[in-house]
Amino acid sequence: MNQFLYDKRYNCLACNEEFTTKKVRSNKARVVRQDSDLCAYFEPINPYYYEINVCPYCGWAFSDSFTPFSPAQKQTVYDTYSRYILKGPPQLCDVRGEQEAIYAFKLALGAGYIKREQLKYLAGICMRIAWLHRQGNRPDKEKEFLVAACRFFTVAYETQLDDDDTAYFLHMLAETNLRLGRIPQARRWFSQLFSPRAMLIIVLLKQLEKLGLLTGSSKRDRRLNNDCS
Ligand SMILES: [Zn+2]
Repeated sequence: MNQFLYDKRYNCLACNEEFTTKKVRSNKARVVRQDSDLCAYFEPINPYYYEINVCPYCGWAFSDSFTPFSPAQKQTVYDTYSRYILKGPPQLCDVRGEQEAIYAFKLALGAGYIKREQLKYLAGICMRIAWLHRQGNRPDKEKEFLVAACRFFTVAYETQLDDDDTAYFLHMLAETNLRLGRIPQARRWFSQLFSPRAMLIIVLLKQLEKLGLLTGSSKRDRRLNNDCS
């Protein structure tokens, strides 16, 4: 297992302590197939398991998309979060199994929700949990988190939309609704996805990327969308 993993150093966004946590070496995880909602199946190791960092000192869980605390919010946010970890900070920095990975995502979902991280990242975390349940053949649990993801995507689309994200949001809204059996809603989102305006944005973004004119932050945001999605 260790040949697939390496130690990455972080400073906790909540308590500032330094710690190391396992990550999957980028050239070691191979995508063998992908579902239409971007759920990827990896061999021989699943990088989803290691996306969330959980501080071993205070238990704060965060993805690489989370933002630092402001001094004003630190105590109140952490006080609320500490209810999730009554048994003390979980130790999730070593090799993880599926249940530990799901637990880490759930902690990050709670942390991100309390701290008001961007809804698209919360939606992404819900999708990850849904995918892990799908891969573990637990359809009821998968559905529970698809419902949550769909709700976050909907609000994010209505309130936080950048043009960069348009196609991604429309795709995920269409896909999650379809998988939840909400056919009229899925049809509506798919029709918007293939609207002339959305198609124009996709073409323009591809052109800008090809020409190297897409800014670093835009590229990063789009990558994070795919990650967190
Ligand atoms: Zn910490």
